[in-house]
Amino acid sequence: MLDIIARLSQEFGQGQYVMGGGGNSSCKDAATLWIKPSGTTLAKMTAKSFIAMDRARLARLYELAAPADATAREALVKDTMETAIKPETPGRASVEAPVHNAFEARFVVHTHPTLANGLTCSLGGPAAAARLFPGILWISYVDPGYSLAMRVRRELAEFKKRHGREPRMMWLENHDVFIAGDSADEIRAGYGEVIASMTRAYAEAGVDTALSEGVAPSTARVAEVKARLQVAFGKDAASVLAGGPVLCAAGPISPDHLVYAKSFVYEGTLEVEALRAYMTRRGYAPRVASLPDGLYGFGPSDKVAGLALAFARDAARIRHLARAFGGIQYMTDAARDFLEHWEVETYREKQV
Ligand SMILES: [Zn+2]
Repeated sequence: MLDIIARLSQEFGQGQYVMGGGGNSSCKDAATLWIKPSGTTLAKMTAKSFIAMDRARLARLYELAAPADATAREALVKDTMETAIKPETPGRASVEAPVHNAFEARFVVHTHPTLANGLTCSLGGPAAAARLFPGILWISYVDPGYSLAMRVRRELAEFKKRHGREPRMMWLENHDVFIAGDSADEIRAGYGEVIASMTRAYAEAGVDTALSEGVAPSTARVAEVKARLQVAFGKDAASVLAGGPVLCAAGPISPDHLVYAKSFVYEGTLEVEALRAYMTRRGYAPRVASLPDGLYGFGPSDKVAGLALAFARDAARIRHLARAFGGIQYMTDAARDFLEHWEVETYREKQV
């Protein structure tokens, strides 16, 4: 079972499905859930890297009297999850372990395909999902962690009552897709259907699935931008990577985009006062500058800068794809605020 889930993780850990430390995978028997560690990449999973969790202990989370305060609640969740980890596989489990555990299916693979996010991050998402994928479970946006786990558990139970079986696919608004199945073939068939149906839907809507971008700036220009960014942000702009100009998303669209590229791109001039005004108002340095001549991702290392640029490009592509379903839908301020202060995401960001 671990060999199979490792193979599936590598297969669906490729760029078409996921970037950075996004997505997670699991397998289970009656007593144990094996889950991907937090902040690691799906593509590099092996049979030995999964964290084993006691399912009965993990299920205690569903019975908790949860504090109303989000910080206290998530701390309690973290403790409960830690007590469920078996001593032979120490580490920090993906925060989505309780969601995986709520499924009866043996294998669950959750990823963030760009083609599917064109739907989950759109105004017409629920209607389009019902039309393109009848018989799936759609989850309207809810904060990840405890709230998501509880909602999924309840909705899975209701779905089973109505349909006499578990859904094979679960779509999360402003997040993406979970595929569940008892065999590797069922997981592959699920993803095959997602990619084929989405590709067809964009073709029918006349929406090009490739990112439209201008010519990338010259090395000399990148060096000039880097020098200006460093005046304002110091070592937060130690590395600057650039691509051609694109039409960026104008706000946060999913938890991963928010973690790796921040909620908002910077769109002003390179004057130090203007750059610092962003930081004063938002409380953190931007990771992406969208300038008329290029898109610049930056951070303390090449890896951070590269991921920021990749997620900003992905968000631009999703903004365009969402035209097939009524246009882009950004996350609410409340959803953004929760994620910007959530310890789990700070941890994931540090793992980079
Ligand atoms: Zn996810």
